[in-house]
Amino acid sequence: MSLLSLHRLTASYGDSQALFGVDLEIAEGEAVAMMGRNGMGKTTTVHCICRMLPAHGTLVFDGHDLSRLPSHRAARLGIGLVPEGRRCFRDLSVTENLIAAARPGHWDAARVEALFPRLAERRGQRAASLSGGEQQMLAIGRALMTNPRLLILDEATEGLAPTVRQEIWQAVAALKAETGMALLVIDKSLKELRWACDRAVILERGRSVWSGTMAELTPEIGERHLGL
Ligand code: ATP
Repeated sequence: MSLLSLHRLTASYGDSQALFGVDLEIAEGEAVAMMGRNGMGKTTTVHCICRMLPAHGTLVFDGHDLSRLPSHRAARLGIGLVPEGRRCFRDLSVTENLIAAARPGHWDAARVEALFPRLAERRGQRAASLSGGEQQMLAIGRALMTNPRLLILDEATEGLAPTVRQEIWQAVAALKAETGMALLVIDKSLKELRWACDRAVILERGRSVWSGTMAELTPEIGERHLGL
């Protein structure tokens, strides 16, 4: 059974329609890559899932009709978002940022620090003074503190140095292997998506135009839909 199910999802910014029919299924414990060129609707789809933007069509999470819920209820059901651009509380310390996000469950600051040892070294430091990679780790840590069943990563490695990107991907793989958490991953690096994810969906002009396993994503499909 699907944990998250989107069917014929449509959404608009004012008069401007951005999604014209997105279908997406994510099973419990599955990692799915959402791919597509710039402006094709990936972030918009994420905003619909997190109830930050109204949508029409089927939007079901764990048997609950999300389209009727406000965003804080969606988070409480177990949807954790690592937003594009990170967004931590700049003036709070690493630990304070983690505690501010906490909800009862398996995750606490110590477990986040075990996943990202760099954060342990910077516990008392203001978030604003962290490197880009450390801020990204903190943003992932904050989402984990909400004890999500589905973790959504929107461009989590964008603009980071290769070694830091590698650390983030290792953490994503560890989450998948060790927690059974479902993942929805948006990223530009096909190589890492292939490594970390089970399946992919491709968006083109606000529509899902292809879905399949990573093995089924052939160079021809990449060329046709992603311009690779
Ligand atoms: P990127 O990889 O560049 O982040 P994306 O696939 O995430 O792209 P979206 O950001 O979802 O794409 O954008 C989908 C469409 O919606 C684009 O045409 C974009 O211009 C439009 N759009 C996005 N945000 C807004 C907004 N706040 N107001 C109006 N239009 C928007």
